[in-house]
Amino acid sequence: MSSENLLLKDFRPRPRLFVKETFIEKPRFPVIDAHNHLAEPFGGGWDKRPLSALLDILDAAHVRTYIDLDGGWGEDVLNFHLDYFKTPAPERFVMFGGVDWNAWAEHSDHFAEWAAGRLRFQAARGAQGLKIWKLFGLHVRDHHGALVAIDDPRLDPIWATAGELKLPVIIHVADPAAFFDPLDETNERWEELHGQPDWQFPSPPFPSFMTIMNGLASLVERHPETTFIGAHVGCYSENLGWVGNLLDRCPNFYVDISARISELGRQPYSSRQFFLQYADRILFGTDVGPNLDYYRLVYRFLETDDEYFNYGLSEIPGQGRWFIYGLYLPDDVLQKVYFQNARRVILGER
Ligand SMILES: [Zn+2]
Repeated sequence: MSSENLLLKDFRPRPRLFVKETFIEKPRFPVIDAHNHLAEPFGGGWDKRPLSALLDILDAAHVRTYIDLDGGWGEDVLNFHLDYFKTPAPERFVMFGGVDWNAWAEHSDHFAEWAAGRLRFQAARGAQGLKIWKLFGLHVRDHHGALVAIDDPRLDPIWATAGELKLPVIIHVADPAAFFDPLDETNERWEELHGQPDWQFPSPPFPSFMTIMNGLASLVERHPETTFIGAHVGCYSENLGWVGNLLDRCPNFYVDISARISELGRQPYSSRQFFLQYADRILFGTDVGPNLDYYRLVYRFLETDDEYFNYGLSEIPGQGRWFIYGLYLPDDVLQKVYFQNARRVILGER
């Protein structure tokens, strides 16, 4: 290969750095995985595989409870997941329900009351939370065909009902920020977006990243009785100052760290400070299905002071060509992040 013509996709630099590499076989405390999936496309289709194989992985990873966000839009998937996973192993799984946005056309002005009613039904059936997927703010439209803002007051009955039923809302909007930037040579997610062209949200036609994020902040502020968990470090892991500000203003706001050790680990000083300051507000999560190697990688990130390591399991990490640094969190913080916060916020236990 001529070095003059080396393409970025062929570049495979091997660091010549000699630094400590720690293998973490088991986490220092048992774990609740507060953000994950069991169905396609994010969870690996475990709703079609034997439950015993899944439990073996969770046992090996010391994951005590696994939060499955794939309850879906309607109730069919939720019911199936409750029967297939939770009934045989009730201590090990928690299922979240969802909102069927497509039903807005049918229910027009009464959509939110209808969706709140479905939420009551899902909770009675066994759902323990509500998952709001990223199409909210980007694609969800009302019965007039108009894009719905995150803090649209017409949806208040849904959030109020979640609060009344003590169902935490895991919400993912907008993130990552670079998906809203032009796809040119300055976009740090260039390789990822070339692989997944439909993950781009240029504005227009989409709202800007900050329009959606300000909508999230206003939603959380307007519903202090409802618990919101901002997925992927509050949907803005690139800006921990912004997330910390919302945490300061809103005691009903929490974050999970799923699929973002890439971002946290490239700003290790800020991240460590963030974990120490907001130790009661951060929930462990992975978002890549039940994957033993990935669990161990996240444990390594949280527990060790290892330097400059890959945040993913592929040779070229998927979210961008950088490496990360461990946070060597103290035991009291690890305990809160690994299970105490999720036990209190999601399971409602003290
Ligand atoms: Zn997810």
